[in-house]
Amino acid sequence: MQEIMLKAYKAYDDYIENGTFKSWLLRIASNYLNNYYSRNSVECLSLDYEDEEFNSFYGYLSNEELSPEEKLIHDELISSVMLQISKLPKKQSQMIIYRYFYDMSIEEISTKMNIPKGTVKSTTHYAIETLKKHLNVDRQGEKIMECKEIYKYLFIYANGTIQPDHKKLVEEHIKTCPKCNDIVVALQKLIPTMVFAQEDEMTYFSISFPELKLAFTGIRYEVENFELCEKALEEWGGNIPDDENNMSSGYTKNCEILGVFDNEGNEIKMKICQETETHYRTKPTYMKKVYRYMWNYCAFLNKVAGGYIRSSKEAPNLYYGSFNNSLGGNAKSALYQAIPKEAENIRIKRGNGVIDCDTYKFAYVDRYVTEEETIRLEYSYLLNK
Ligand SMILES: [Zn+2]
Repeated sequence: MQEIMLKAYKAYDDYIENGTFKSWLLRIASNYLNNYYSRNSVECLSLDYEDEEFNSFYGYLSNEELSPEEKLIHDELISSVMLQISKLPKKQSQMIIYRYFYDMSIEEISTKMNIPKGTVKSTTHYAIETLKKHLNVDRQGEKIMECKEIYKYLFIYANGTIQPDHKKLVEEHIKTCPKCNDIVVALQKLIPTMVFAQEDEMTYFSISFPELKLAFTGIRYEVENFELCEKALEEWGGNIPDDENNMSSGYTKNCEILGVFDNEGNEIKMKICQETETHYRTKPTYMKKVYRYMWNYCAFLNKVAGGYIRSSKEAPNLYYGSFNNSLGGNAKSALYQAIPKEAENIRIKRGNGVIDCDTYKFAYVDRYVTEEETIRLEYSYLLNK
């Protein structure tokens, strides 16, 4: 209290009389407390509770003997906790502060805020659940991976080529993330409908989720000089020398590659090299295995809208989507673009049709293309938001 008053006194010249004095003072107080609690031990932050289920969260936050690196991560965590508390509705954040910072009992809070005890209890419970969700921790207090870290596995999870340890990560994540779960559900429905070319023909597909700027692509090609490649890779122990240029491919600056995987879900490590001002190449630096008919499953984020979607001013509920691709080789090529499941009146102007996959619908085009050809998908739909 003393510290805060002193700070307020010192800062009084900066006080501009456009809000209430009280809220100005409270802002100083909360800033001070934020700093105080992130500087000092975390014991005061322990979200301890009568209920057992909160003990895990307490365990996650309580500060044991930490190494400098751990301390850094921990401090970051504390500031993210503080940030999330500040984002809660006012009553909820107030209760959390009373309960865990001032160590007040449910009864004391009830009296102080003039709110029934039961309501204090349930509101605090709700606030804690919200905090947990926003902080990405599960019931055991384990950190759940962020969507961006998990995206790269979603396609190979859905097609079953994922490695067991990655599979576990995805399952943990989709349990608490409805958005990623929707992607998985849709892909699991979509994949069995996809028809690939014969093994000796190149086959390509792209599935994009324009709203998320997320796309999954897959290309299968016959590896030239397969035996030679296999032998070389073995000699290198999977680490591809810098001067090996055969396996590089083009790349534009507008997307961020999240991950590339082979036929059996082994991650192919990539390096991006700048070729000209606008052109980049990706070069594999590590590959566990080479296959005669090699799949590259790739997940990437577009920095600009992935696959073009727009609605017009005159008809804001009407959306147009388009998407095209040229492969520069003879191949079977398929493009799929996710449409919200609530969409109605879907019209395919160019393309084969729509596949309903529960959580998403997909407009698609699927055919053989020659080297010079561009494959194009064009459609519209109505969406009442
Ligand atoms: Zn997610």
